Amino acid sequence: MKKVHVFNAGPCLLPQVAIDNAIEALKDFKGTGVSVLSISHRTKEWDEVMNECRALWKELLNIPDTHEVVFLGGGASLQFLYVAMNYLEKKAAYLDTGVWAHKALKEAQGIGEAYAIACSKDKNYTYIPKGFEIPTDIDYLHITTNNTIYGTEIKEDIDCPVPLIADMSSDIMSRPVDVSKYDLIYGGAQKNVGPAGVIFAIIRKDSLGRVSRYIPTMLDYRTHIDKLSMFNTPPVFSIFVMNETLKWLKSIGGVEAIHKINMEKADLLYNEIDRNSLFVGTAEKEDRSCMNVCFVMAPGYEDLQDEFFAFAKERGMIGIKGHRSVGGFRASIYNACTIEDVQALVDCMKEFENLKK
Ligand SMILES: *Cc1c(COP(=O)(O)O)cnc(C)c1O
Repeated sequence: MKKVHVFNAGPCLLPQVAIDNAIEALKDFKGTGVSVLSISHRTKEWDEVMNECRALWKELLNIPDTHEVVFLGGGASLQFLYVAMNYLEKKAAYLDTGVWAHKALKEAQGIGEAYAIACSKDKNYTYIPKGFEIPTDIDYLHITTNNTIYGTEIKEDIDCPVPLIADMSSDIMSRPVDVSKYDLIYGGAQKNVGPAGVIFAIIRKDSLGRVSRYIPTMLDYRTHIDKLSMFNTPPVFSIFVMNETLKWLKSIGGVEAIHKINMEKADLLYNEIDRNSLFVGTAEKEDRSCMNVCFVMAPGYEDLQDEFFAFAKERGMIGIKGHRSVGGFRASIYNACTIEDVQALVDCMKEFENLKK
């Protein structure tokens, strides 16, 4: 196979061992002679995968007994609706830090009263708003910890006087998280922990049942906690691959270990962006994401953008085109991306500078 370095924003790069084990299971699931695509989700063998996957989530993130984790379909975008359905009674506040945060807010506004407590749109979402006061009369504060499109990240678990809800689609399992600080953490698997087709939701059990509306069965988190994510047919294959991805993460030392590597990767790339005269980063330095690194050509060198794309492509760089709302480049350096991948991109940037200067 051609040697490439994959920096796709999502679906993301997955560890090779997870892919190899998935290929095996497509042919023969756990020695049953049946493909994982055809296995009944009501078998002992499937139960083992579900239980292992749930246990790995709890172990890797240190999820306390107060919380349960569920796996559902529908994407993170449907979770925006779940959040409002299950938690919005009178009023909710959203930190508007990007396209996804804004979409989450908009979905809540279709259900009840929700507003942006602070917003960084004035500077094209290149920073995380700070210093805003959180009122105590709201049902919850919703944050998006990593803004996949703009490359900004809230890297610490904030202290919040009201229930805290976080979309962690693109930085889950990239760093340790104090789960006890959140009533709900959710996200799509396809940015860091698995393939598309499954979401995770880590729910404080006693935070549910506080709204007065009727919640449709499928949209009620309690349904899925009660039935251990098996109320209806779960996204079997996606969960299988997610489980393999988490087994890999555990094998290399878990979240603490990957966090160190992730910081090393981010430093390596940001240092090159800051050093290299042809490129500049787009996000405020203190808010830079460890997962999605956004940069553009430096002033005066804008004309070289297409040439750099071609140059990088020739050297095996895949998926470094920035989102259309930022332009330039975005390298997503999720868990499965290695130091070697990042070094290859850095070398490529250096080489290009030498060629042009
Ligand atoms: C990708 C992404 C989403 C949307 O995920 P889907 O599963 O495609 O609906 C939501 N939030 C964040 C932070 C994302 O990166």
